[in-house]
Amino acid sequence: MSDPSTRSVAESDPGPGRERVRRHGSGVLLIRGGAGTGKSTALRERVLQVGEKGLDPSRVALIASTGRSAAAHRLRLEEDLPGPYESLSVFTWEGLAEEILRHRPVEAGLGPTFEVVGAAERLAMLLARVDELPLRNHEIRGNPAGLLRELLVGIDRAKRQGEDGGELAELIELHDSLLAAADLLDRNDLPRIVARLLEDKALAEEVTARYPHLVIDELEDLHPARAGLLHRLAPAGLESVVASFDPSRAIYGPGAEQRFLEAFPEPDEFVLDEAWRMSDLRIKAARAALGSGPLPEGDWEAKGDEGSVRYWRPASPRAEAQAAAREVELQIASGIAPEELAIAVPDVNSQGGGVVGALAERGIPARPGGGAALFRQPEVRDTIAWLRALTDPTDARAVTRALMRPPTELRSLDLAKLTQISKRRKLDMISACEASLESPQMAPEARQRIEAFLTLYRAAAGAVDTRRPDAYVRRLIERIGFRRQRLFAARPETAERLLGLSRLAEIATDFSRRDPNASVREFTGFLIALTEGGLEPAGGPVLPGVGAVPVLNLDMLKGGEWTRIWVLGLERPFGTIRTPGPGIGDDPTHPGGPESARIAVATALTSAREEVVLSRAGDAEPDPVAAILEATGGLEEVHEEELFGPDEDVAATYRTMLGEVIEASWKTGSELNEPRLDTAFDVNRAVARYLELLKLAALAQRDDGASDEEAIEAVNGLLAQIATPEQLAELDASTLDPYLLATERERGMRQGLADSRVEPSLDAFLPRRGDDLRLSATDLDMYLTCPLKYKFARVFGIPTPPTVNMRFGILIHNVLQRFHEAELAGKDHSEDGLATLMALLDEGWRRGGFGNSNDELQFLDRAREAMRAYWRNEKSSKSKPAFLERQFEFRIGSHFLRGRVDRVDQDPEGNFEVIDYKTGQRVDSSRHGGDIQLALYRLGAREAWGIEPAAGSYYYVLEGEKVEVESSPDDRERVERTVLEVGEGVLGQDFEPRPSPAVCGWCDFKLVCPAAEA
Ligand code: SF4
Repeated sequence: MSDPSTRSVAESDPGPGRERVRRHGSGVLLIRGGAGTGKSTALRERVLQVGEKGLDPSRVALIASTGRSAAAHRLRLEEDLPGPYESLSVFTWEGLAEEILRHRPVEAGLGPTFEVVGAAERLAMLLARVDELPLRNHEIRGNPAGLLRELLVGIDRAKRQGEDGGELAELIELHDSLLAAADLLDRNDLPRIVARLLEDKALAEEVTARYPHLVIDELEDLHPARAGLLHRLAPAGLESVVASFDPSRAIYGPGAEQRFLEAFPEPDEFVLDEAWRMSDLRIKAARAALGSGPLPEGDWEAKGDEGSVRYWRPASPRAEAQAAAREVELQIASGIAPEELAIAVPDVNSQGGGVVGALAERGIPARPGGGAALFRQPEVRDTIAWLRALTDPTDARAVTRALMRPPTELRSLDLAKLTQISKRRKLDMISACEASLESPQMAPEARQRIEAFLTLYRAAAGAVDTRRPDAYVRRLIERIGFRRQRLFAARPETAERLLGLSRLAEIATDFSRRDPNASVREFTGFLIALTEGGLEPAGGPVLPGVGAVPVLNLDMLKGGEWTRIWVLGLERPFGTIRTPGPGIGDDPTHPGGPESARIAVATALTSAREEVVLSRAGDAEPDPVAAILEATGGLEEVHEEELFGPDEDVAATYRTMLGEVIEASWKTGSELNEPRLDTAFDVNRAVARYLELLKLAALAQRDDGASDEEAIEAVNGLLAQIATPEQLAELDASTLDPYLLATERERGMRQGLADSRVEPSLDAFLPRRGDDLRLSATDLDMYLTCPLKYKFARVFGIPTPPTVNMRFGILIHNVLQRFHEAELAGKDHSEDGLATLMALLDEGWRRGGFGNSNDELQFLDRAREAMRAYWRNEKSSKSKPAFLERQFEFRIGSHFLRGRVDRVDQDPEGNFEVIDYKTGQRVDSSRHGGDIQLALYRLGAREAWGIEPAAGSYYYVLEGEKVEVESSPDDRERVERTVLEVGEGVLGQDFEPRPSPAVCGWCDFKLVCPAAEA
């Protein structure tokens, strides 16, 4: 990004704004204008002018709405102000309020070292006390962090507006009392607290004496709480106020202008109506995005020719991310700096990962911003995994990640052996590591790696309860060697990664400062809460890192300017609140709500100098893209998914391998200092990889017209003259040549290439019965959804703790099973059916270890309601259960299929119906090309029990609805085809991840999965 800053004042602004500001002496000046009319430059001109008149520029307080704008103004002023001056006074409203409070903490009733916290810290605080919160009427559904995040939005909105929060009032009161008890201040509260403080006129005059001149950017965001602060300063002797106002970018709704005029009733006014760097097309598109009228016709006229708008309709989010990465690569190749390009998505938490992944495939570093991007960085996730493993050795996923990643890097095969030991002997993973040292199953090299891991683990575990979190985290980062590993890995994203680790250490420092007695365990809980809540503490870098493409939340574009912006993922339905409920409501200005979306898209359209791309995947017709298209008459470009990612030519493969070779050399080098049993093996492998890199470099530069095959053979001949026999054996075993020569490149081949270099076969750990692969309907669905998830769950068998949703599902299944078992045994339920269901539910609830948390009690309420609906349906049903929990097993090809059907009903005509109970989300029967589960059940019933079910249904117990899925003539063929396809994938060990926002968001293996990181 560059704020308008990277160009000189003279070049960037034709001048009317600056001239008018120069003519302005004291008093109040209000500048109106749309984007691109030179308002920001005019405001900075005011600061320069004050400096020219001999007054210290630090006495001008420049206030912006967003941290990004404030940072951009500061950067630019530092360039333009000749100095000397004390320090620049550039703030957000909350920053100014904090600065005032730091001068007068006692008068505000605060301790001298009060701490200010943002949304992330408040979310962690609420999550730690979730059972004490008044959430009985909010739908928690096993995801308290998600709900609390939505509620915080409601709390913040109420505070901005100066309202009591209505249905949230009780929660707000508790939220505030928790903060007060911890001696913490909510950043959003600062303007309100200062407004109260400045009721003391002498204190208000003290502030205006320090800052006699105010310059206010983004006045459109003057919400009531901020206005309260301004209203105290207005009568306290300000010499001048210059403010700029653009109603088309008001992120907190209307009313800001009125609030300003209440403080300064008769300002001089001036309209900047010429957008001198904006094309007509861009303004037309932005106006269409905004709908009716924030800027009347005539008040915002295009005077430039900068900027086109393009529209995409890609086939899928993956195709969209690939297309953006392709264009970004071309832009960088043409000389544009990566930070001058931006990619924005409505929700970076769920949509950013795919974009960052597509950029990474082309070797383009990215910096995700907003949400919890920091917690998706591999080394940050490694550190969190270590902290989790150290504070809870039963956290199998955390221990697994620590074992898989540097410095241990246990191979998949050995990891599978470990999880097997853990399961067979019922040991946690750390104890399994210890037991594995005695196990003949483990190869000596693996034992050595595990021993090194345990040494590190024990040393770190010894200090968990004695060190402060900040000192502990810094030491852990050093001990594990994350910094060292990355420092040498001279890849473009190295700086970003190192910054991520530093940021984590800073978060630990802030945490320890807020509570010097807090333990490492508490800090780990805090990090887990932030990760689950998808929020990062404030204080990270606001401006993008040099050399990295920012991937941002769409609502974070305000205050920045880029050369090109791609706005992706616009198919996401705006206005959908994830956890609707009291107090969250349907406010159109809710982040992601329709008004916010309009403003954010319009802001994107006016924040790029050269081009903006608006993209929506699939068939969606989202607002406001459809309106923009209609207004501008644009055509949409269609983008299909590239099966193999970036252009898989030799140069691309060279780029991919380059990083691999550098990292391998660093790791192998460290082994030379502390030789292990497999050091010679690793050294030969590293040298062989280097020779392959040479081969690729040679092939990429050849221009002799020889065929690929001839060229490879020639280079191989030369390499054979210098490689040792061991290295030659490595080269022979490599799949690089077949990969380069393949004309029919299959999906996953690149992954296979990478895997075959480092991983021995997992064949012995594939789930089998005899020689046959063992598959169930869940396995088929899991593999088709994401093969890597299947690997974690079924091949490694990484244990996952049962969630409340899972326990609840088991309870409901058990209740219904017992109810109908009694019926099958001859019990007549006609008189006491509902009472029996309720009694079974209550008994199961007691025995199921459920507690009294709001979340669990809500599940109980839903279960009771579900039992009533179930009984109503049962009473009127003509069918009766014929079998319950009946198993089937049969073969398809060399695969062994098994399953258990919840219930099989038979109607009076003797027809059978297979029924599967569901207590979670609705099944999308069309995914994977048609319903598999019920088709498999019907086939199983036919093959194993010899009955021919006429129907198959999903019974959504909580909704009291049974949904029949009609059979189709090709069911058998489809199931067989699917089984063979999945079987081939599993046997071929094709476990390539298929990340997608919908699936990864709920995946139990996010912590372990490399595809879930940025
Ligand atoms: S996080 Fe996503 S990509 Fe990774 S295993 Fe889970 S579903 Fe697959």
